Amino acid sequence: LLHVPLRSRSNSTESSLAEDNSTNEVKSGSGFKGHAMLAPFTAGWQTTDLNPLVIEKSEGSYVYDTNGKKYLDALAGLWATALGGNEPRLVEAAITQLKKLPFYHSFWNRTTIPSLELAKELQEMFTARKMAKAFFVNSGSEANDTQVKLVWYYNNALGRPDKKKFIARAKSYHGSTLIAASLSGLPALHQKFDLPAPFVLHTDCPHYWRYHLPGETEEEFSTRLANNLEQLILKEGPETIAAFIAEPVMGAGGVIPPPSGYFEKIQAVVKKYDILFIADEVICAFGRLGTMFGCDKYNIKPDLVSLAKALSSAYLPIGAVLVCPEVSEVIHSQSNKLGSFSHGFTYSGHPVACAVAIETLKIYKERNIVDEVNKIAPRFQDGIKAFSDSPIIGEIRGTGLILGTEFVDNKSPNDPFPPEWGVGAYFGAQCEKHGMLVRIAGDNIMMSPPFIISPGEVDELINIYGKALKETEKKVQ
Ligand code: PLP
Repeated sequence: LLHVPLRSRSNSTESSLAEDNSTNEVKSGSGFKGHAMLAPFTAGWQTTDLNPLVIEKSEGSYVYDTNGKKYLDALAGLWATALGGNEPRLVEAAITQLKKLPFYHSFWNRTTIPSLELAKELQEMFTARKMAKAFFVNSGSEANDTQVKLVWYYNNALGRPDKKKFIARAKSYHGSTLIAASLSGLPALHQKFDLPAPFVLHTDCPHYWRYHLPGETEEEFSTRLANNLEQLILKEGPETIAAFIAEPVMGAGGVIPPPSGYFEKIQAVVKKYDILFIADEVICAFGRLGTMFGCDKYNIKPDLVSLAKALSSAYLPIGAVLVCPEVSEVIHSQSNKLGSFSHGFTYSGHPVACAVAIETLKIYKERNIVDEVNKIAPRFQDGIKAFSDSPIIGEIRGTGLILGTEFVDNKSPNDPFPPEWGVGAYFGAQCEKHGMLVRIAGDNIMMSPPFIISPGEVDELINIYGKALKETEKKVQ
């Protein structure tokens, strides 16, 4: 069966996914089958029946498993290790801070120097709109949960107790805590978790290729989506809508850059009804799109911003919420009335994580990381987009150092492959076999290599992608 093309199998009950996971057995033999970890975003059968891929070491754009096999890390961990796997300055920054002050908190007007310095640095770096304050968290999910609490607190302070609903978008990903998963527009994050929470509404996914009407231009598509957003606001009552949240380029939903004119039109609607704009920059910030922030690229003027991942090149967990002066002033005056702003985490502004983040930002500046990304990005984008003619690829999309590939039949968004064929999973397994790790979500493949990827490594990435694609085409036939 392994050698029978997917298309010619008649009603096979055996899923190609299970079959192709036989590669897992070859790859590892790590002896961790049936391990004790309840693994995130993993199915039960995977942890009981298969060896996990156990990564033990990293070096530049590569990671190594416990068998010593080397993989080009085409996803930079989880869109995160921007400076690659062994940047000595980040390790040094952590050690220096650990020796001096491994921990102190930031509650009750006590804090540490690294957290104060990092807040100032972020306030200066973000220029799309003036930001007054940075609130520190440990992850992107916590950043987005914090956004909701900030916005509610703000509207309560303004005497607008009904202005509490959030509008997010279908296919967005904002994290997996209760609120962040609610904001996310991916059904798997809601199913059987009793989510989304009732205050969250979802509007259209801005994916032109998949959702445009016959003959509709990108601009017209953006106009229609902005109109739909306005209709949703009017139907719910503008006095009930507090905020709109969006990733500049959607990441986990399949790498979806906005269609032309989209953010301009959406921002006009949001502004008209006094709705706050939250930019979820957890993936896009610090150079990934070829600009320091995604907001710079799409001329977004957000009221609030969520950051994480590349903030510390993922060497330590840290995230941040940037707050504009208008919102932070209201929050300050409300906390004066109540006696405190009663929100925060033990590790908000953890000094070691902050020290690593400060060093990360220093490196981005010193090495002109945005210029570096812009230098390497065309080689990556053009190299992969050259495969667009493949009969099993519907669309390859992306910008800067982020790319998504969507496999479909007949090159049509309306002809998905049967999920049980596991086309995306097969492609991912072939990449892995050839020594490259990508993100697989159904028949969507995503890549976001480290910013430090070299031209030679980009060529290797393209070469492996090409080989895996050929094998997948043959498999599908
Ligand atoms: N927001 C976006 C846009 C993300 O891509 C992610 C994670 O991938 C998150 C939020 C959640 O971040 P975390 O996994 O650190 O909670």
